[in-house]
Amino acid sequence: MRASRHDAALQRSPDGLQREPTLNAIDTTHHAHAANVAALRDEVLSRLTYTVGKDSATASPRDWFVATALATRDRVVESWLASTKRNYREDRRRVYYLSLEFLIGRLLIDTLANLGLTGAMRDALGELGVDLDKLREVEPDAALGNGGLGRLAACFMDSMATLEIAAVGYGIRYDHGLFRQTIKDGWQHEYPEDWLSFGNSWQFPRPEITYDVGFGGHVESARLTDGMLAHVWRPGETIVAVAYDTPVVGWRGKHVNTLRLWSARALDPLRLDAFNQGDHVGALTEQVRAEAISKVLYPSDSTPAGQELRLRQEYFFVSASLQDLIRRHMKQTGDIAKLAGKNAIQLNDTHPAIGVAELMRLLVDVYGVDWKEAWKITQATFSYTNHTLLPEALETWPVWLMEKLLPRHMQIIYLINAMHLDGLREQGVKDAGVLSSVSLIDEHNGRHVRMGHLAFLGSHKVNGVSALHSELVKETVFKDFHRLYPDRIVNKTNGVTFRRWLLEANPALSRLLAETIGAAVFDDPERLVDLEAFADDPTFQQRYAAAKRENKERLAARIFDSVGVRVDPNALFDVQIKRIHEYKRQLLNVLEAVALYLDIKSQPSRDFVPRVKIFAGKAAASYHQAKLIIKLANDVARIVNADPETRGLLKVVFLPNYNVSLAETIIPAADLSEQISTAGMEASGTGNMKFALNGALTIGTLDGANVEIRERVGDDNIFIFGLTAQEVEESRARGIDARETIAASPRLTETLAAISSGLFSPDDRHRYAQLVDTLTYYDHFLVTKDFDSYCEAQRKADARWRDQKAWRRSCILNTARVAWFSSDRTIREYAEEIWKV
Ligand SMILES: *Cc1c(COP(=O)(O)O)cnc(C)c1O
Repeated sequence: MRASRHDAALQRSPDGLQREPTLNAIDTTHHAHAANVAALRDEVLSRLTYTVGKDSATASPRDWFVATALATRDRVVESWLASTKRNYREDRRRVYYLSLEFLIGRLLIDTLANLGLTGAMRDALGELGVDLDKLREVEPDAALGNGGLGRLAACFMDSMATLEIAAVGYGIRYDHGLFRQTIKDGWQHEYPEDWLSFGNSWQFPRPEITYDVGFGGHVESARLTDGMLAHVWRPGETIVAVAYDTPVVGWRGKHVNTLRLWSARALDPLRLDAFNQGDHVGALTEQVRAEAISKVLYPSDSTPAGQELRLRQEYFFVSASLQDLIRRHMKQTGDIAKLAGKNAIQLNDTHPAIGVAELMRLLVDVYGVDWKEAWKITQATFSYTNHTLLPEALETWPVWLMEKLLPRHMQIIYLINAMHLDGLREQGVKDAGVLSSVSLIDEHNGRHVRMGHLAFLGSHKVNGVSALHSELVKETVFKDFHRLYPDRIVNKTNGVTFRRWLLEANPALSRLLAETIGAAVFDDPERLVDLEAFADDPTFQQRYAAAKRENKERLAARIFDSVGVRVDPNALFDVQIKRIHEYKRQLLNVLEAVALYLDIKSQPSRDFVPRVKIFAGKAAASYHQAKLIIKLANDVARIVNADPETRGLLKVVFLPNYNVSLAETIIPAADLSEQISTAGMEASGTGNMKFALNGALTIGTLDGANVEIRERVGDDNIFIFGLTAQEVEESRARGIDARETIAASPRLTETLAAISSGLFSPDDRHRYAQLVDTLTYYDHFLVTKDFDSYCEAQRKADARWRDQKAWRRSCILNTARVAWFSSDRTIREYAEEIWKV
């Protein structure tokens, strides 16, 4: 086969060498490899010819990508069909993971790695003159999520397939995922994201799998012959949910699950009468209204978009999913009473909590199950994961809106609530305060339905996502519930899939691990402990550092391409990448950068550790303060990077459009991982786990899973600072006026003065006046309180860095000791303790 002459971009390197022998090593045997290469080459060409309709001479990079993705997908399908058959044959209890977000990222390398075909595909494409590493960059990120919560759902899908759990993920197929971020003049700008504009090679449209989802209308009641009251909901509006399936391959391709995402369609494609009368736009209004439901992901990760469309999205996907799983259950068993025994439904946060009322409606109104029995089935089927204690993120919906959109569900919620409160009164709970705090209805400032309470009551288990968070769930948001139902709240500390976050993201380290402790570590991450024996081994240390170096060079090139800043791979790469949020305290990090800058300028002879501070992250479009923090980081970067006096000792970069793929490039290149949230506010974090696994040392507060990371890596191999969750609470109780705190810290005083003076904003000297004021008088996130101890921890990191042997030892011990944060472990715990599968 001749290489395409038109696509220099895809030519493989002239040396023709494979760059990822590890991935090949854990692929198949050599014999099978050669056969696979030949077969894959033919399959890619066949797809290019017959599906894409191009030949290799005219194919664009995107054409090659599509042909390669389809050829790869073809390899999944048989195993997928076999898994589906097996699920039926063995009549296994199924797990349904309901999530409004799945932050998947790219799938080509992920699928190939799971199938053990990365090396074979690399060689097959090589024979066609195409470079797999360049091809992988062509794939758009599937960004159907905001951040940690959506990424968790994606990691869980991977682990459920790997553990061969019969599972379906249900969500929405948004036409536009999380917005694309650009930085212009330091400010964030948002643009619609367009992942589907060239089609989606991984999905199978299922136009025959559709469900009607109703909204509005009224409820009719009729007295049955046996005297019981029957209710029939007559929706005023019906929207059609259409299924799109994506196969999710487990490790080594043994089991394949389905991610089923729903797209919204109108019942009729247009109003023909209106169209024929010349009203071409009006003829489409109903379609536009219907399809708006799956048009765009809500770009908010912590505040409920208090809007009707959000509630419509939630009910839309929940109703379609429940109808779908009940249909499957009835086909298999024919017995609705067995629903709980055969199905477990996990609610990822409260977004799908309306499912509790919807299942009750389906059981009682449609299947004629008696209320008490239906409630038992519902509770035994559902479980709920809480992700946040932030009061602004606890979803509630106005009763009037519920009554308008979902009148029957509102009746059901009232009835659940009445029975719940009556039951408590019977048990002797008299305290009006307790009863009102556990009511499903919030009677203060306008009546609202509390979705967290609905999820709690409708579930047999409720979990937090780290040890600390689960304890705080018991003590704060669900305090009264916990006293009434002491066995319901459990902990399931989050995890990440090591396939994506180590094997695929960090081939250099993966290769070294395979060579040192054996490739079986990818089947059993617990074997990572074998690395401990090498922590002080000079040869191993050198190779470990060389792998990091390779990743840092790649990132340095990426930084130059992206923002035009040259950074030195010898410097300490200090990284904070995550959603921009006040509680995550990027501001604390920026303040430290400013302090460091002032130090470098005022003490030129001091021995500074050269640092590159790397930021990336998106702010919700309406989150003014977070966007201002982005601007500040960029303003500081501009001044610092242009100042010759810093002599390359400090660089600050803000990389635009943070997403899964960017995370995969940055994390393996990080030396220091910033996990510096106000203690008690980050439920778990999963970025922290990815970094530790890739051998970055954490500088962090005792928050979320940082606590458990410290327990495992050991106090000497992590830089912990700042107030504890308990101290945060006490400190806030004493007041958040920070004037005394600032006055007590000359360094902080100087830092804030520099920002206030307009040093970083000469074009608008007052740009940060309000920001500094907020810190001074209303420091809710206790940035000022933690500033000095944060700086002190940074200097400890510097000291460790100066002793490269000690630094490397700590990095190696991080990688060696974090096996427990594999999402396989998390899913095993869910499977055993919550789903009973
Ligand atoms: C892991 C991940 C997150 C979560 O990061 P945290 O630091 O835990 O907030 C968010 N976005 C992307 C793209 C990720 O990969």
